[in-house]
Amino acid sequence: MRKILEDIKNFLLDILFPKFCIRCNKEGNYLCPDCLASIKISNEQFCPFCSPPVIVLDGKTCRACSRSKKLAGLFCAGSYKNPLVKKMLGLFKYEPFVKDLSLLLASLIITHFKLLNKEPNIDFVIPVPSHPSKLKERGFNPAREIAFELAKFLKKPLLSDVLVKTKPTLAQVELKYSQERLKNVRGAFSVPNRAEIQRKKILLVDDIFTTGATMEECAQTLKAAGAREVWGAVVARG
Ligand SMILES: [Zn+2]
Ligand SMILES: [Zn+2]
Repeated sequence: MRKILEDIKNFLLDILFPKFCIRCNKEGNYLCPDCLASIKISNEQFCPFCSPPVIVLDGKTCRACSRSKKLAGLFCAGSYKNPLVKKMLGLFKYEPFVKDLSLLLASLIITHFKLLNKEPNIDFVIPVPSHPSKLKERGFNPAREIAFELAKFLKKPLLSDVLVKTKPTLAQVELKYSQERLKNVRGAFSVPNRAEIQRKKILLVDDIFTTGATMEECAQTLKAAGAREVWGAVVARG
C-alpha cells in the first residue's frame, strides 16, 4: 500500500513539476540517459593518498601510504573537474533533487564497479555521517542517500547509526590547507555501538573525496572500535 501511495505521489509530482536534463534540457530526469552516458567513469583505482595519483592494481592504498593510513582503498567513479558531475553534486545538497540524484550518482559508482569488473568485498555499508545540527538544517544526509542505493545494489545491510558525528565541523572545501582539514575533523566521529562491527569489513560512502581527511578520520574511528577493514566509495575526487 505504501509503495502504491509513493508511486502515485511521484506520478503527480512528475506532472506538476516536470524534470529537465541539466545538460540538454530534455524532459524526464535531471540527467537524460545520453548525457549520463557521456560522463567518463574511471576503470582504474588509485591510491587515495598519493599525490600525484598512483594506479594500484589491487585497489588498495599503496604500501608507503598504508604505513600511516587506515583506509584500505578507494572506489572513485569520476572527477569533480567534470562540469556535469560538479553540477549534480551541487544540486544534490538541496532537498527537492535528492531522490532522483542519489540514484543517478549511485549509478556512477555502480558503473565504476562494473568497469573494474569487481565489487567491494564487504559486510556492511556505512555512510559518512552528518552532525545532528546539519541534519536538522538540511533534512537529510547526502552520503546516506547514496549509501542506501549502493547497499541495495550490493545486497548488503546499510548501517546508518553505527558511526555518528559528535562534533560539528566546517565544510572541508572551505579550508585551503590539508593540515587545517585534518584538524577540523579530528575527533569528530564516534561509534556508540561497537558490537555490530567487530571484525567486519565496511564500505564507507561519501559524495566527494578531496584530501581524504574526513574519510580517513572515519576509517580510524571504525578500526579503533573493532572493524577489520574499511574501504571507501565516492562519486568523485576533488
Ligand atoms: Zn541530456
Ligand atoms: Zn599512496
